[in-house]
Amino acid sequence: MKVLLATNNAHKADEIRNALNFKGWEFVTLREAGVESDPVEDADSFVGNARIKAQAAHVASGGMCVLADDSGLEVDALSGQPGVYSSRYSGLDGNDAANNALLMKNLEGIPNYLRTARFVCTLVFLDADGAEVVAHGKVEGYIGQEARGEDGFGYDPLFYPIELGGQLSFAEIPQERKSSISHRGRALCELKDKLELVYNRA
Ligand code: IMP
Repeated sequence: MKVLLATNNAHKADEIRNALNFKGWEFVTLREAGVESDPVEDADSFVGNARIKAQAAHVASGGMCVLADDSGLEVDALSGQPGVYSSRYSGLDGNDAANNALLMKNLEGIPNYLRTARFVCTLVFLDADGAEVVAHGKVEGYIGQEARGEDGFGYDPLFYPIELGGQLSFAEIPQERKSSISHRGRALCELKDKLELVYNRA
């Protein structure tokens, strides 16, 4: 079965394809499927925005099964910002360098022990009838004093997960290792468990 990923973010699509192996499902991005869908993400929660993206892509594709990911970074010293605004923190939607620079500026002078943060991911899957399965994942860590690593995307070079002892950023490890502890990897595990319950019920 073909499942439409409600995104054109190649990094997200890659992580999802590599981590979610379910019944041989094939995942295609909006661009690959030739579907245009770019709804206003104006909910105040990750699940709200994931639902907006999933439903818009479901309608725009004429009823395909859809998987939407809404994710972001919550920094405690910034009262949870950038949160649902993570991709447009600097005002430039999807500009990782500008977003990272603004985050570093806003944390200037803040010591390590106050730089705690977490990545959060919510997945919304819609089947062809529009029935919904929701899954969540998060990973705790802290925002480093410097960007390190070349892999990954977004805030990966600034995020040091506690599972890696705070020594390595998400951009310094291979994707498979990132997925084994990341917010998206954990949400995908939960989604797979739920899909197995739904689709293997009979
Ligand atoms: P969305 O596409 O509206 O869900 O925005 C997600 C934004 O959160 C991305 O543009 C990144 O800035 C950030 N983000 C989400 N997941 C990750 C990740 O795994 N690594 C780094 N940044 C992420």
